[in-house]
Formats: sequence, C-alpha cells, structure tokens
Amino acid sequence: MRLAGLFSRPPTGEPDDDAPDEAGIATSEAPPPPEPDVPREAVVIAFANQKGGVAKTTSTLNLAVALSEEGYKVLVIDMDPQGNLTMSQGFNPDQIERSMFDVLVHRLPIDQVIETAEVDLAVSSIDLAGAELALSSMIGRERALEKALNPIKERYDFILVDTPPSLGLLTINALVAANGVIVPVQCEYLSLRGLVQLENTLSMIRENLNPDVGIQGILPTMYDGRTLHAREAIEILQENFGDLVFKTRIKKTVRYAEAPVKGSSVLKYDPTGNAAAAYRELAKEVLNGAKARKHA
Ligand code: ADP
Ligand code: MG
Repeated sequence: MRLAGLFSRPPTGEPDDDAPDEAGIATSEAPPPPEPDVPREAVVIAFANQKGGVAKTTSTLNLAVALSEEGYKVLVIDMDPQGNLTMSQGFNPDQIERSMFDVLVHRLPIDQVIETAEVDLAVSSIDLAGAELALSSMIGRERALEKALNPIKERYDFILVDTPPSLGLLTINALVAANGVIVPVQCEYLSLRGLVQLENTLSMIRENLNPDVGIQGILPTMYDGRTLHAREAIEILQENFGDLVFKTRIKKTVRYAEAPVKGSSVLKYDPTGNAAAAYRELAKEVLNGAKARKHA
C-alpha cells in the first residue's frame, strides 16, 4: 500500500521540525529529504463505524487540527447529514445553501462548499440526507466523492472524511475514496462486535471498488482506565487486531463535548489540556506508522 511513502513526506508549511523548541532543544529527528519529482497528493483517511456516538466526528476534527499544527495542509469533509462536524466549527447546517449534497449529486466543484475554519472544511447540510436516495439511481454512485476529490488532492496533505453512523452509500463513497480507514471504538464489549460488519463491508469494497483500502488503525475512545471492563475491551481489541490498535487511548472527558459548543476543536479550546495532548499523540502515531494493511 502506498501510504508508507506518503506518510514520510515532509510537511508543507510551518513549523520547521528541525527548529529548536522553546527550550532550545531539537525535538525530533530530521525530516526526510523533499521529493521534488513526486507531485503532492493528499492521503485520504475515512473515519468509519456504523455505530453512533463512538467519537468519529470528534476524532476527525481533532486529528485534523493536530496534523495542521504539525504543518500539514488538511481538509475535513462532513459526509454526515446531521452536520455535527460542520456545527463543531461554528457553522449552522440549517443555513448552509450549498453542501456536500450538491457536490455528490449535482457535481458542484467541491471548492464551492469549502469553508475556512481551523482547517478547511467541506460542509454538510440536512439536504445530504437525500443524497443516498438521489445517488442510488446514478451510474458511478459509489465514486462520487472520489471524483470530487481528484481536482483538489494536490492542494492538501491529508483529507479526513467524517461519515454517518451507517454503512450506506455516503459511507461507501468515503471508503471508496480513502487510502485508509480509522475506526474509533468505544471501549465497551458491545461496541466491539460491530467491527465484524465493518470489516465485511471493507472486504466487499476491496473486491469490487477500491483494492487498496484497509483499516489503518483502530482508535480506542472514551477510555476509562479505572474500570476493568474498559481494560478488558482493549485486550479483546488487541487479541483480534494486534498492532492495528493505536497505542493512543482517548480518555473519557467532558472537554470533548464542551469544545464544539464554542465552535472549536479541543486543541483550540483547551490547548494545554490532556484531551488536546491525546490527539497530538495520535497525530504522531498516524505520521510515524504506515499502519495500513489489509485485514481480512
Ligand atoms: P460520532 O461522530 O461517532 O457519533 P461524536 O464524535 O459526535 O461521535 O461523539 C459523541 C459524543 O461524545 C459527543 O457529544 C462528543 O462530544 C462526546 N465525546 C467524544 N469523545 C469523547 C471522549 N473521549 N470522552 C467523552 N465524551 C466524548
Ligand atoms: Mg458524527
């Protein structure tokens, strides 16, 4: 899978990795040399889990902002008709005239629905709820997002796609357009069982539509290390998925619910808090590891 090469590409903007930090100490090893002959093309990561409330939206936004802090150019795409990602950057989905619906169904260039927020954001509105039906009779219905992204892929390092809590056409579009999938899971036994269904969908997509897509990482969220149940849930995940499970644990805290009320990521809302630090740690993991591999 080509993620490995792309992940090693240096950031396109500030900050400079080699620059000393405030304490005057170089923080990380030198970035790999630039590859001038390789045109830049975004790595597309879909956040998927057909279960609602597992932190897909929270993880899409906060990982995006953490990657952007590292100097990468990032676009997030709201593919959920509920518009939670759009709202969490302070936009009202009820007042949005043109959204991903128009991009997917009417082939409106995606530029026209990209708003400037903490990171670039392609917005959703309630119209998007009609997209599944409108797309269902179209030829190439599974590739509408992939097509929409082609003209803008060279402008970004990462495109993170938030999906609705279902495995319908909107999510399938995201999986077809993606290089890899991050699966946020709540650290509860019942939440783990849904992963089998997601894996089956991914296998079908690999067979028919996108041979390269695989689970890039499983992200344990809402983790409460004081409970035996949460620790056991992580053990089950690791037994089944091995090193596909990210080492970063996203702990349970009300900060994640507070930040969207202010229209901001947790990294902006509480920049020095543990909640922000967790997504910065995840960003490092995503950048360091070419975790993607096919998981049958
Ligand atoms: P999804 O997109 O999978 O439906 P969300 O990201 O919207 O999930 O999260 C569901 C709810 O849980 C939101 O209110 C969100 O603020 C909250 N939340 C997300 N992550 C955490 C966490 N680590 N701890 C506590 N609450 C969280
Ligand atoms: Mg959501």
